[in-house]
Amino acid sequence: MRIPVLICFLVLAATSRAPAQPATYTHADTLRGSNGPGRAWWDAQFYDLHVRVNPADSSIRGWNGITYQVLAPARDMQIDLQVPLDVDSIVQEGRHLTYRRDGNAFFVALATRPRVGDVETVTVYYHGRPRVATNPPWTGGFTWAHDSLGNRWVATTDEGLGASVYWPLKDYLADEPDSQRIAIAVPDSMVDVSNGRLRSTTPNGDGTTTYEWFVANPVNSYDVAVNAGSYAHYSDTLDGEAGKLSLDFWPLAYHVDAARRQWRQAVPMLQCFEHWFGPYPWYADGYKLVEAPHLGMEHQSAVAYGNRFTNGYLGRDLSRTGLGLNWDYIIVHESAHEWWGNSISVQDHADMWVHEGFAMYAEGLYTECQLGKTAGAAYLIGVRGRISNRAPIVPAYGVNAEGSGDMYPKGANMLHAIRQIIGDDAKWRAILRGLNATFRHQTVTGQQVEDYISREAGIDLSKVYAQYLTTTQIPEFDYRVEGGMLAYRWTNVVAGFDMPLRVNVPGLGDRVLHPTEAWQTLPVPSATAEQLVVDENYYVTARNVGGERP
Ligand SMILES: [Zn+2]
Repeated sequence: MRIPVLICFLVLAATSRAPAQPATYTHADTLRGSNGPGRAWWDAQFYDLHVRVNPADSSIRGWNGITYQVLAPARDMQIDLQVPLDVDSIVQEGRHLTYRRDGNAFFVALATRPRVGDVETVTVYYHGRPRVATNPPWTGGFTWAHDSLGNRWVATTDEGLGASVYWPLKDYLADEPDSQRIAIAVPDSMVDVSNGRLRSTTPNGDGTTTYEWFVANPVNSYDVAVNAGSYAHYSDTLDGEAGKLSLDFWPLAYHVDAARRQWRQAVPMLQCFEHWFGPYPWYADGYKLVEAPHLGMEHQSAVAYGNRFTNGYLGRDLSRTGLGLNWDYIIVHESAHEWWGNSISVQDHADMWVHEGFAMYAEGLYTECQLGKTAGAAYLIGVRGRISNRAPIVPAYGVNAEGSGDMYPKGANMLHAIRQIIGDDAKWRAILRGLNATFRHQTVTGQQVEDYISREAGIDLSKVYAQYLTTTQIPEFDYRVEGGMLAYRWTNVVAGFDMPLRVNVPGLGDRVLHPTEAWQTLPVPSATAEQLVVDENYYVTARNVGGERP
């Protein structure tokens, strides 16, 4: 859901996705998406966020204490807070600082020149009526809703758009704080469920209560969420790979029976993903599902859920195989992001395939856990129907641009192909777990992920990445059989494309060929060799060019 549209997960119809990225980007895009001079010199260590949420007039008021370490000499500090919100004051050590506004960014003049290595805190006080989400979770902001009993129900969603839609921070993916407090004051009739663990519940004596949540780990700012409503709570414990994992469930009170039935799927989901990816990344913060007035979102350690307590994606199967109706899409896909997106987080939205490609790939693995390897593969092959190939998956860097929604199904199928190329499921699993161990709780570039897989596989996959991530071309396996020889090559590929391919050739059986752009030949004993079949686990096309002249 991101770009304006796809962020966390798939929009239902490929045709509803946003058009290809614009060719030009604005000054504001650069301020938001790059590590500019007002950002690069400081490292966010702790956000101390306090927000009073007032549903009566759709307003908020609060402050964020930003604790940071000085990395380099500087004078101006960029802090992001989006219109129409306004800053009341910016304070450091009791002194009011001056600042100028440039759209959604504030440039703060520090009172004293920071010294490298110092740890400082600046506090931003702000208020206003934040942007209202017009199509959450894809077009986010605040959702001021009511549940079906008429109780107020409030939620935030801001992936892509950015957390600065409702609180001031360095709204830059590559800099996550090491921990964060999220203290949300809501009317006494409501309960707020945010990320991490609930530390305290404090009646303020003015008709509001403050719920103080604390995330003990690095957190993506777009994952920091308000969920306020008439919630019930129940809990469970999982004996996981890293010990006892607390599971906390927050459905609307009148949905508690439905939740107790449907949300049981969290247990086998966590067991499957721990098997394939390694320990759940946030034992300290626990695992939570929180009912939300939108479809869902991978809010870290507090996954937002709005899938109507039914299997599939709003009751549909994105793979059109029927396999996706065996599990709840939002529980599986959004929770997969705890590993892919939340623990391993990209530094630039341009690399968002690392979040969404792996998360959709995880849907296939979950199908495999439940129904076997053939079913898992069939699911992933099925989601190819959602690939549009209208724009490359990776767009421009440094401008907060997000690539084509093909990052979901095509990214997943690239990973599925890589599993075939490696041809060793134990090694593939070790790579998936190794990625999570190596890049645990870090921000990364897509290149780091690509290089890790190539290195651990012992196979240079750079041309495979180039093909599937930077072009819209589907590799074509051209072949012909003449005079007892099979001739074959790749076309419609990036220069040097060298992906091996498993083919079943009558008379020879299964063979792994190593096609290149140049014709190669293989003796074939059978007259029916041209009825060869390419392994459908590879996302390629095949064409018998016999009779055509190269
Ligand atoms: Zn997603």
